[in-house]
Amino acid sequence: MHRRAVLVLRALVVLTALGAGAAFAAEVDDARLRAADKENEAWLTHGRTYAEQRYSPLDQINESNVENLIPAWTFETGLKRGHEATPIVIDGVLYITGSWSHVFAVDARTGKEIWHYDPKVNPLDGRKACCDVVNRGVAFYKGKVYVGVLDGRLEALDAKTGKVVWSVVTVDQSKPYTITGAPRIVEGKVLIGNGGAELGVRGYVSAYDALTGKQVWRTYTVPGDPSKPFESKALETAAKTWSGGEWWKVGGGGTAWDAITYDPELKLVYVGTGNGSPWTRYARSPGGGDNLYLSSILALKPDTGELVWHYQTTPGDNWDFTATQPLILADLSIDGKPRKVIMQAPKNGFFYVIDRTNGTFISAGTYVKVSWASMDQKTGRPIENKTADYPEGLALVQPTAFGGHNWHPMSFNPKTGLVYIPAHEVLGAYKRAPAFEYKNDPGKWNTGTDFNVYGLLTRGAVSGRLVAWDPVKQEARWTHFYANPWNGGTLTTGGNLVFQGATDGRYIAYRASDGKQLWEEQTGSAVIAGGVTYMLDGKQYVTVLAGWGGAFGLVGGEAAQGLGGDGKGRLIAYALPGAPIKPSQVVDLITKQDELSLGERLYHENCVVCHGGSVVAMGAMPDLRYSTPEVRTIFADIVLRGVFRGKGMPSFEKFLSEADVAKIKAYVEHRQQQTGVQPGQAR
Ligand code: CA
Repeated sequence: MHRRAVLVLRALVVLTALGAGAAFAAEVDDARLRAADKENEAWLTHGRTYAEQRYSPLDQINESNVENLIPAWTFETGLKRGHEATPIVIDGVLYITGSWSHVFAVDARTGKEIWHYDPKVNPLDGRKACCDVVNRGVAFYKGKVYVGVLDGRLEALDAKTGKVVWSVVTVDQSKPYTITGAPRIVEGKVLIGNGGAELGVRGYVSAYDALTGKQVWRTYTVPGDPSKPFESKALETAAKTWSGGEWWKVGGGGTAWDAITYDPELKLVYVGTGNGSPWTRYARSPGGGDNLYLSSILALKPDTGELVWHYQTTPGDNWDFTATQPLILADLSIDGKPRKVIMQAPKNGFFYVIDRTNGTFISAGTYVKVSWASMDQKTGRPIENKTADYPEGLALVQPTAFGGHNWHPMSFNPKTGLVYIPAHEVLGAYKRAPAFEYKNDPGKWNTGTDFNVYGLLTRGAVSGRLVAWDPVKQEARWTHFYANPWNGGTLTTGGNLVFQGATDGRYIAYRASDGKQLWEEQTGSAVIAGGVTYMLDGKQYVTVLAGWGGAFGLVGGEAAQGLGGDGKGRLIAYALPGAPIKPSQVVDLITKQDELSLGERLYHENCVVCHGGSVVAMGAMPDLRYSTPEVRTIFADIVLRGVFRGKGMPSFEKFLSEADVAKIKAYVEHRQQQTGVQPGQAR
């Protein structure tokens, strides 16, 4: 074959290979989601896998080198208010949400914005949100990014462009419904719930066809107006546990605003439900009763939303003790037997281990101070303490409406067997409002309690903990104490590490096995979200979103004073500064340095007058740092054999050898890296 033809062919092969490698976001389908634990380069779903353990086996960053971790890049969202999202990472792109349901696609290598979508929420809808205009992230499926918008929309965006593919309204927008949770993808459907139980709504979770946006099913969590037919058998059963009030006028509550997980093997979707509307049961269901399915874990059929089993964590909820907190699925050995379990640390302070095949209670322990009840370990039904009830007068209760643990993601490390819980110690005070009167207005809270008692919140009365919890023994293995509550979600890794952010702006790494702090960096803003980790080009990144707000950021008063840093939304990626150098590599390195300095001399003897000093061209001639990878592969052909003669680049065959050209090329690439230019980047 003619030499020139060979060159062209080689260039074509290179181009084809690059084209394939750069193909955008390979299809994420159901099979890929089920096998998400195999993809260390990605973080495919909210909790990394359907089990939502937030454990990554990656260990390039580990207990012996994490002290060297440095910021690799930072992306500013340009937004204030709480940033609670867990990033999704697919094929080199990070997808995050900021406050007001903004969505961003960001280059996972550089932190550069690819696109930004603003759903343009009416600023007045902010008053419907009990706990700030936050959003906890997107879902990704078949080339689309799914976001639940604060005003109740569910939208599918084109993952390449951020343009809206479909948009549906999932709520009655005349009522104070909001969406802050991340959608989940289950068998071709997008599942989404909503919030609003403080103001007064009826909770439900819905499934929409992921491709078309058509509603497939909707499951209400509490019974509605008794003059109307029951939507399901499960609600008919539930209605018998409500009595004497007119809860349906307020809504009843039970909103599913955060936790949704899926077990593809058992074909069950698990949903956590929220508190009652109103909070106080004396206004909601004065005749007593458990008020199903408030504060419960529900197991639903993914195709119909039909209830299979339920477990109620707080029967007859009286304290805003939601069970919407993150659910983790795991297989544990308990009393020598393998058990398929769900683990949850709901607001009420008990850590639950439940059999996820049938909802049977296995055990519970208290991960924070609990004064409202003790636990019947046989039945799994809490035994209320009279001191926590408040038919009249004031009750001081632990935990509180902030929760011993709230939405902040917890994580489970199968290597240590421990669950890392971002916990809070807050003393709560409850008192009934003098007379409960339902106010049907999208900005009015309808809890039936006296909010004056929140004046009790002072600095020092509240604090935070990172609890490393043994779910089998139901006890803490180690605890890290923070002066302030509302610290970030946790991430745990195969490097024996736990990462957690803090409201004072630090991002911190602890040794997973014993809690020794190994590293911290100041992000400049409070970190309340949970971090993720992924691998790209052989480099492990740990990434977290900072941004101050959320329930405690808004109402914390004096107790939250001085926290939060500049409060701005900021995505930060951390990585090790470079692979650690072994002694054997030092010799190579010195040789390479010699070659570089020789390459520098040869470059300045032969190339500088056209391509610029130190490989910085001023515009008239090509700046070689920006050469595309395919041009790099034929570098010697260009310099020695005149392949670009037609463009005015002569052959240097008379002056340079193949070895010389290799040294010049190494110097050019060194300068490209040194000046932060990406190969093939546009100038
Ligand atoms: Ca609530």
